[in-house]
Amino acid sequence: MPPSIADLVRNAGVVGAGGAGFPTWAKLSSRVDTCLVNAAECEPLLYKDKELCRLEAKRLVDGLRLAMEATGATRGIVCIKEKAHDAIRAIEPFVMGPIHLHRLGDFYPAGDEVVLVFEVTGRLVPPGGLPLHVGCLVNNVETLVNVSRAAEGIPVTTKALTITGAVAEPASFVVPLGISVREVLEAAGGATVPDGVAIEGGAMMGRVVLDAPVTRTTGGYVVLDRSHALVRRLLRPDEVHVRIARSACDQCAFCTELCPRYLLGYAVEPHKVMRSVGFAGEKAAAWNAWGLLCCECGLCDLFACPEDLPPRRMCVAAKAAAAGHAATPPPSRGQPHPLREARRVPTARLVERLGLAPYDRPAPMRPFPGLPSRVFLPFQQHVGVPAAPVVRVGDRVRVGQVVAAVDRGALGVDIHASIDGRVTAIEAGGLRIERE
Ligand code: SF4
Ligand code: SF4
Repeated sequence: MPPSIADLVRNAGVVGAGGAGFPTWAKLSSRVDTCLVNAAECEPLLYKDKELCRLEAKRLVDGLRLAMEATGATRGIVCIKEKAHDAIRAIEPFVMGPIHLHRLGDFYPAGDEVVLVFEVTGRLVPPGGLPLHVGCLVNNVETLVNVSRAAEGIPVTTKALTITGAVAEPASFVVPLGISVREVLEAAGGATVPDGVAIEGGAMMGRVVLDAPVTRTTGGYVVLDRSHALVRRLLRPDEVHVRIARSACDQCAFCTELCPRYLLGYAVEPHKVMRSVGFAGEKAAAWNAWGLLCCECGLCDLFACPEDLPPRRMCVAAKAAAAGHAATPPPSRGQPHPLREARRVPTARLVERLGLAPYDRPAPMRPFPGLPSRVFLPFQQHVGVPAAPVVRVGDRVRVGQVVAAVDRGALGVDIHASIDGRVTAIEAGGLRIERE
C-alpha cells in the first residue's frame, strides 16, 4: 500500500512553520470540512509568507489540496490580507472549484487562528478548543508548501524568514536550518544601529535572541537597538514587571476592552489577571483564571495599556501557574462583543505605537548568499517529544538525511541534515554539522 499523505508529511518532518511547531501529520490525521491557509502574517514588518504566496502559489495550492484530501475537506480557503496585492494576483489563477480566496482587513491579530476561523467561517471555536472542533483545519503558508514537497519525498531542510528593522537591506530569504541569526543578519547588510539585537518571531510575540540557530518555527527577525523601548521591555525581568504591575495598575480595563479574545466572547479579562499580583493562593488563582484563554498576542501590553504595564506577561504567568492543576476558565459569553469590529487595531496604528514606523519597508525574497560553513540543529524544533540522534560524531551526512529521529508512535518529527558535511558535536540540545 502506498504511504498516506500524513505518513509522507511525517517522514519529511513537516511542522507548523508559522511558529507553532505542531507536527503536521497529526493535524492531517483529523477529519474536517474546511481547510484554511493562514496567510494573514499579521506580525508587523514580516513578509516571508506574502513572498511565498507570490513565488510559490502553485505549491501552496498543491499543499492545500493534499491537506483537503487527507482530511476529507470539501473546501479550501486561502486567507490573506487584501493589501497583499502581488500575492493575491499570484494565487488568483488557482482559485476555482473547492479552492477559495478570503481577503482579510489589515488588523492585528488577524492570524490568530481562533480569530481567523471566526472571520472566515463565522464559527466560534469552543473555549479552550481547537479549530478542529468546528470542522476547520488551519495551516500556515510555508507549512503547506512543505506538505507539497513532502509528497515528492523532499524533507524540510530549509526555512523561509524575513530579516528587517534596523538592517541595511531588509529581505526575506530561504536559509538552511540551523544557520545562526548572525549569518542571516550579515546577509541583510548588517545592523544600522550601534547595539543591534534581534527579536525572533516579530515585534508583538517574539523574543530577543543573541546567537540562536534558525529552526523550523523561526518566522523572522526584527533587529532593533538595545535601547529601543520594545527591546528594553522584552529584557525586563519578570520580578520587575510584577513590581510595576503591583504599584501602577489603576484597573482602567483598556487592556480587556481591546483584547481580541475578550471581544470574541471568551472569558479573557487581563485587567482582572492584573489583580492577582495583590493576592496569593486560591485568591490569586481565581483572578488568574481570567487569563487562561489568552493567546499571548500582546495587544494589551504593547498597544492598549496607557501605563506601559504587562498584562500579557501576567496572563502567561497565570497559565504557567495553572499548568498541571485542574484550573478552568470562567464561563465565556459565547458570542462576540457588539463593538468587536470597531475595536480592531489597524496594523498601521500598531506599527506607529511600537515605534517601528521608520522600519516599515518591504522585505522582498532574495537568494541567500552562499552556504553556511556549519549549522546547529536542535533536537526540539516542534511540539512533542524531542528527536534523538541517530548519527555519531565523525559521521558524514548528506542534505536530507535523517540525523535525529522520533519513535513512530510518539508525537514529534525527525530532524534532517540541512547541509552536506560531518557531524562534529552532539550535545544535549542538538547536533552540529560542519562542511568539509
Ligand atoms: S494593565 Fe493597564 S490597561 Fe489594564 S487595567 Fe491596568 S492600567 Fe489599565
Ligand atoms: S495577550 Fe492580552 S490582548 Fe492578547 S489575548 Fe492575551 S490578554 Fe488578550
